[in-house]
Amino acid sequence: MKHRRSIDLVASHEAVATDRETLASLPQWYVLHARCPACQRQAMLDRRELAYHYGKNLILARIGIRLICKSCGNRRTNQLLIGKLPRD
Ligand SMILES: [Zn+2]
Repeated sequence: MKHRRSIDLVASHEAVATDRETLASLPQWYVLHARCPACQRQAMLDRRELAYHYGKNLILARIGIRLICKSCGNRRTNQLLIGKLPRD
């Protein structure tokens, strides 16, 4: 059985030019995750929700600094990770 959630996450700057790409310009098959360096919590981000709150023209590089960890409340140096959804 194929595992649907096998997504390779990489640091955002390795996969995408996050200083140029925005929520609107990033292709749909990319998913965004956030990782908290303080407590190691990792969570998937809802792109539509981010666009709703911050505007779809938000530069990806600006997302990490706006994130707040839901587990420990850390709001500094949260890391944005980007993964590609498997395309069948
Ligand atoms: Zn945390």
